[in-house]
Amino acid sequence: MKRDTRLIHAGRPARAAGPVNAPVERASTVLAASSAELYAPSQGQRTYARGGLSPNTALTEALEGLYGADGVSLAPSGLAGVVLAIRSAIEEPGDALIVDSVYKPVRRFCDEELPRLGVTPRYYDPRAGAGIADLIGEETRMILLESPGSLTFEVQDVPAIAKAAKARGVATVIDDTWSAGYLMNPLDLGVDYAAQSLTKYVGGHSDLLMGCVAARGENARRVAAHAQLYGAHVSPDDAFMALRGLRTLSVRLERCGRSGLDLARRLEAHPAVARVLHPALESSPDNALFKKQFSAPAGCFSVVLKDRGPREGEAVADALELFGLGFSWGGYESLVLPCDRQLVRTAVPWRERGALLRFSIGLEDVEDLWADLERALGA
Ligand SMILES: *Cc1c(COP(=O)(O)O)cnc(C)c1O
Repeated sequence: MKRDTRLIHAGRPARAAGPVNAPVERASTVLAASSAELYAPSQGQRTYARGGLSPNTALTEALEGLYGADGVSLAPSGLAGVVLAIRSAIEEPGDALIVDSVYKPVRRFCDEELPRLGVTPRYYDPRAGAGIADLIGEETRMILLESPGSLTFEVQDVPAIAKAAKARGVATVIDDTWSAGYLMNPLDLGVDYAAQSLTKYVGGHSDLLMGCVAARGENARRVAAHAQLYGAHVSPDDAFMALRGLRTLSVRLERCGRSGLDLARRLEAHPAVARVLHPALESSPDNALFKKQFSAPAGCFSVVLKDRGPREGEAVADALELFGLGFSWGGYESLVLPCDRQLVRTAVPWRERGALLRFSIGLEDVEDLWADLERALGA
């Protein structure tokens, strides 16, 4: 089956009688018929909610279908999902190569928690590509990728990095939230663990927090074991909502991506804009890599303003009326985020003078969004 058909049919019994969607079962405890059953549950029977209830199983199976994964583990947030992938990938003390454009809370985990596990984080240029081979040492245990990167949207040469890692026996983890596992499949490109925040495009309605990790073979078993160890679990209500989002992911992503690219092009031509950081633009230094790895763009990108510093950038954001001011993205509604106060880069210093604004484009009419942007930029 093709990707869009899998997205609809995975995690649903084919042509079975009964409700279309797995019912929400709310339970901590699932009773057994006898003591013998309690300790040897028959195939598929659960005894406790951490083993997963119906909507959790359906969501897991649907995500396995999306990634072509042997296993998907759910986590209570996207951050918890990335952390679960990192813990599954790193088995011994040593060092870890972390992409410099990594999502900020993951950077904090790497800086504060990895050293306590005997692992030193080393940040690398998102555009390192095959040159990552020169950075891999005897002690390197993991390479963390995020493509495109948070806030600045650099595209990584994922197959080249995965290949260099594999040649040295180093595990790879990617934060795949932007593509939602849909616009690109990192497992097909050779990455060991694909983590994403389902809070963003999969949830899609700004009403739940969740993450997942997808993997194949032995890696899938490792993630499942670590999810059990750390008690990573999500509520059946949230699993139901995430699955509902997943069923319409393709049409929402298509619209957000199309409107986003349209607005990115118009912004690029606007006199108040110095640069648009969007990998699907022909002007992007990453455009060739983008076209090779992604089937289409998502709707999240950034803009560097011309002659206007961080304070004035915040004034532009405040002047917008249709864009909510918020830290998230990937919902049905458009958002703007002034980024300068949170941008941290150590491997490749950030040299732009103008304010950095990130946009998440939602499902509104693109002409209304453009009118709002023009008005705020002109103010
Ligand atoms: C939001 C986000 C996360 C974390 O997701 P939560 O569900 O909010 O914990 C991780 N990675 C990226 C790239 C994100 O944008």
